[in-house]
Amino acid sequence: MSIEVIVGANWGDEGKGRMVDYFAQDADFVIRYQGGNNAGHTVINEFGEFKLHLIPSGVFSKKTINILGPGMVLDLQSLVEEIQSFKEHGIDPKIYISERAVICFPYHRYEDIWEEERLGKNAYGSTRRGIAPVYGDRTIKKAILMGDLFFPEYLETRLRQIVDWKLQIAKGVYGKDNPFTFEEIWEWTQKWSKPLLPYIKNTNEILEQAVKEGKKILFEAQLGTLRDLYFGIYPYTTSSCTLSAFAPIGGGLFGYPPDRVIAVVKAFSTCVGEGPFVTLMEKEEADQLREIAKEYGAATGRPRTIGHFDAVATKYGVKVQGATEIALTKLDSLTGRKTLKICTHYKFENKMFDDFPINPILEKSEPVYIELPGWDEDISKVRRFEDLPQNAQNYVIEIEKRVLCPIKYISVGPEREALILR
Ligand code: GDP
Ligand code: MG
Repeated sequence: MSIEVIVGANWGDEGKGRMVDYFAQDADFVIRYQGGNNAGHTVINEFGEFKLHLIPSGVFSKKTINILGPGMVLDLQSLVEEIQSFKEHGIDPKIYISERAVICFPYHRYEDIWEEERLGKNAYGSTRRGIAPVYGDRTIKKAILMGDLFFPEYLETRLRQIVDWKLQIAKGVYGKDNPFTFEEIWEWTQKWSKPLLPYIKNTNEILEQAVKEGKKILFEAQLGTLRDLYFGIYPYTTSSCTLSAFAPIGGGLFGYPPDRVIAVVKAFSTCVGEGPFVTLMEKEEADQLREIAKEYGAATGRPRTIGHFDAVATKYGVKVQGATEIALTKLDSLTGRKTLKICTHYKFENKMFDDFPINPILEKSEPVYIELPGWDEDISKVRRFEDLPQNAQNYVIEIEKRVLCPIKYISVGPEREALILR
């Protein structure tokens, strides 16, 4: 038996999807344990190029069962369409959906949009998929669980009460007069839940059994430490817990701590959405790297903000994840740069520090850099650490020294096999 968790140590988009796809080759189960269709995990393998939003990245492996865990929020329509798109590519996804996962309704999406519009220039940079409203509803106990779909009378009673309340909010807070009706929401629910019913299970039982049989289990996170609801750049975080410590809860597997936590770290910094970002790269340099590295959001297509490697944020990101090792991605994207900067400290009110602070300090922090020489050689075909140019090796070693965790994997291309094991 083995239990592994793959998480992001940065702001998300570190390349978790490609690492899960790699590790899933011999996994019996892959479990997404938080988030919704605001995720965008890119996987490139023998089947082609895919952007996964709700379906775990283990879906390409024949032996792997993929679970959408109780910690997730599921837009039914989006899930049906994602399953359909896999079928069109000749892949029939082997999935189970937890009966305790929560449904993300169209009114969650509307609320997300209305609230971002109300906030104007102070908006959170939401993906506008309804994620914050639906997690909010879960917390204040106004959510509907996937398992409720099997009990139409129960579902109707609860949904009527909730829709009635939502309509009051729509009018009172946002001035929207009856923007939807109960009947519309009911029809949407009926239409899009029907194809999903066969997948909905008590997934806790399935996993409990799997552990007893000594199966290999992999948890897949969405986003990264710095967008975590509790330890990220609050309030510019997501609305769920992106940490490895949440995997047992959001995945539904109790009493078995993970054997390994693999933190995925990008060889430079990127973020999408709002919030403080200390190591912002100079515009021209950033524009160039964005094109080389194709840094556009997988869920929204938004251009990602680009920064130098932030060792302060990453050290924290790795520590908070309880990482046992690091997978460093996109080293190849840095080829051709004369020098590379690593931010080792932040400066705030003339004091230097290397602990990641809360936002009021973060927003006023200046980066302090060291600078390392770059390399020009194409490294995308390299498969042994010793075969990397000396300056690339030095860059990796310097990062490892700063973030205090062994770098065991280095990826040098988006394809499954473009990986160095160290
Ligand atoms: P995730 O959200 O953490 O799964 O990451 P995304 O898939 O959103 O973003 C990572 C992007 O980098 C994707 O477009 C990947 O195909 C790509 N990628 C991942 N690893 C590498 C790598 O080592 N080199 C290059 N050039 N691209 C990579
Ligand atoms: Mg992504």
